[in-house]
Amino acid sequence: MYIKKIEFLNFKSFGKKVKIPFFDDFTTISGPNGSGKSNIIDGILFVLGLSSSRTLRAEKLTDLIYNGEKSKNPDNAQVTIYFDNKDRELPVDNDEVVISRKVRSTDSGYYSYFYFNGKSVSLGDVHNYLAKARVTPEGYNVVMQGDVTRIITMTAGERRKIIDEIAGVAEFDNKKERALNELEVVRERIERADILIDEVDKQKEKLQGERDQAVKYQSLKEEKMKFEGFVLLSKLKDAKTELEGVGQEYDAQQEKLEEISSELKQKKDILEEREEELRLLNQRIQKMGEDEQIEVKRRIEEIRGEISGCSDRIEYAGQEIDEIDAARRRFSWKSMNQRAR
Ligand code: ATP
Ligand code: MG
Repeated sequence: MYIKKIEFLNFKSFGKKVKIPFFDDFTTISGPNGSGKSNIIDGILFVLGLSSSRTLRAEKLTDLIYNGEKSKNPDNAQVTIYFDNKDRELPVDNDEVVISRKVRSTDSGYYSYFYFNGKSVSLGDVHNYLAKARVTPEGYNVVMQGDVTRIITMTAGERRKIIDEIAGVAEFDNKKERALNELEVVRERIERADILIDEVDKQKEKLQGERDQAVKYQSLKEEKMKFEGFVLLSKLKDAKTELEGVGQEYDAQQEKLEEISSELKQKKDILEEREEELRLLNQRIQKMGEDEQIEVKRRIEEIRGEISGCSDRIEYAGQEIDEIDAARRRFSWKSMNQRAR
């Protein structure tokens, strides 16, 4: 790869369009002082964006625009370099690569544009393309006036750096340094990640403890519910047994009640009969003599005794009915409670 041609338009001392051809070997440009030889180098630095480490002889980019008389275009300057790329050092499939840069001044400042084979690109893109052909802003692809003298007077270490740069070792050194820096960053990230992992582990342990407790609580709760179920079941069984017992007792009491009721009825009938008999006897007494009256009175006493016996029996039966009634109410209350539970 080599520069075939440079084209200046309104750049520094080149007010008109100036084309300078180069050979694939060695080209010397000579001329009187101030004729613009160094301006050609400025043009190369400008168009390839290499001015960061090599001093472009202008305070600002707009100083590069031709400011002489008869300027047709005082706002613009453009430099174009034509590379021979038959060896494909630049990573594009073209025999010729054209890189161009334009600077345009405006009221508020200036704009600068780069073009690679006619396509608008950024300065970074230009650097990336050139880096593939080992042309870098830090490299010594352009040797400035005074550079040779400076290199001769340099210390061995500084000179070594330049030789490394030219041999391409510096690029690897740079890459190595970048890689080491990245490694350092990664190491720091790993440290941070380790700290995070520690924290997460601690959190995990804490959560594990809480989880175990929750699981234990859950299983104990289930066990408790199970046992409560057993207790309820056994209570239910007891209640059923009791209910059966009460039912039987109720039936028996009912039977007894019926018996007593019929007995009561009988006794009442007898009482009515006796009362009727008494009433008749009283009627007879009124009509009878003394002996007979005595006999009748004795009979009356006898009947009274029987009546009193009957009354006692009725009273006793009434008590028993009350008791059976109370038992029945107790049973009904228990049945309601069971259903409510
Ligand atoms: P030397 O042999 O002394 O190194 P040279 O050939 O390298 O000289 P340059 O430094 O390239 O000369 O050119 C300097 C000339 O460029 C000066 O005459 C200066 O006036 C002219 N010049 C610089 N900037 C501009 C500009 N913006 N517009 C017009 N002319 C300019
Ligand atoms: Mg010069």
